[in-house]
Amino acid sequence: MAKRDYYEVLGVSKNADEQELKKAYRKMAVKYHPDKNPGDKAAEDSFKEAAEAYEVLSNADKRARYDRFGHQGNSGPASGGGYGGGMNMEDIFSQFGDIFGQGGFGGFGQQTQGRRVNRGSNLRIKVKLTLEEIATGVEKKIKVNKFVGCRTCSGTGADKGSSFSTCSTCNGAGRVHRITNTILGQMQTTATCPACDGEGKIIASKCKTCSGDGITREEDLISLQIPAGVGEGMQLNVAGKGNAAPRGGIPGDLLVSIEEVEHAELKRDGNNLYYNCYINFADAAIGTSIEIPTLEGKAKFKIDPGTQSGKVYRLRGKGLPEVNSYQRGDLMVDVNVWTPQTLTSEEKSILEKLRESANFQPQPGKKEKSFFDRVKEYFH
Ligand SMILES: [Zn+2]
Ligand SMILES: [Zn+2]
Repeated sequence: MAKRDYYEVLGVSKNADEQELKKAYRKMAVKYHPDKNPGDKAAEDSFKEAAEAYEVLSNADKRARYDRFGHQGNSGPASGGGYGGGMNMEDIFSQFGDIFGQGGFGGFGQQTQGRRVNRGSNLRIKVKLTLEEIATGVEKKIKVNKFVGCRTCSGTGADKGSSFSTCSTCNGAGRVHRITNTILGQMQTTATCPACDGEGKIIASKCKTCSGDGITREEDLISLQIPAGVGEGMQLNVAGKGNAAPRGGIPGDLLVSIEEVEHAELKRDGNNLYYNCYINFADAAIGTSIEIPTLEGKAKFKIDPGTQSGKVYRLRGKGLPEVNSYQRGDLMVDVNVWTPQTLTSEEKSILEKLRESANFQPQPGKKEKSFFDRVKEYFH
């Protein structure tokens, strides 16, 4: 049987907007609804046909393809799953949330959703790290108070020797059906079974340790492998290391927030480190060797003769590593020449002699970088 045109199926024009489509489909769905037409194969086909038409036309991409290529546009593997075999009832009913609002028609005795699987909650912790630890990456062992599977009942929630029985309210489906009267007529809706909380089974006798929850609170020692290069405010997610779920569900995740302990001498900016060093003007003029802090410990560092205040030395690769990369930042040594603030009369007389000396006269020439060049260098 040749497929009918989707617009024709819904009885709308080619340029029908979203609201018109919705309205038209709603009308069809109510008219051909299987509950209203029990055993009527033609009604069921019309119902499916309308659902398929709406599915395509309500999606901008699919509609555009349909407008260009017709039914070919949305069938075959290239389009990511077409409607060669038509939609099944479950697809159709899942579409109804959109059309009829929350709750929809429900499943007509079919299971639209399986039994509920419990999920443990996520566990949030903070970890303080020094720059040294961040530079290399580190293993941290952290005590956390969290839900773990109950040891007495192995997380099942059932008392020793007790067994589970299928929930009699929902017959193990985890969901119950209700008939409600709505403006569209009598509708069947489904809801989580209140007797078993959607699990489909009931424990005959609850474990006394955990009161049937299958979990207990305990202090747990968690070992965390923290990669190099992390930073303040970053969050690491460790799947499945959060709180255990009641009665053997899926555990939550462990969310680790990184806090950075400020370094006494080094400042961090991204992967670069900055060190402010102060030298006296004799050392600046004659040159010297100083000790600077690095993340691998103290290092000897040479100050060239004639170093100006504000000079920045860049030590390539002495900064922090990038997370999951071989790249490393640099260490900038920012030189400040210290001007003495008190002088003895002897010091003063020596400086008086040097004061008029030709070499002591400032000569900012081409060799000296301007303030702006230095800024550029600093941030390059
Ligand atoms: Zn237990
Ligand atoms: Zn139940």
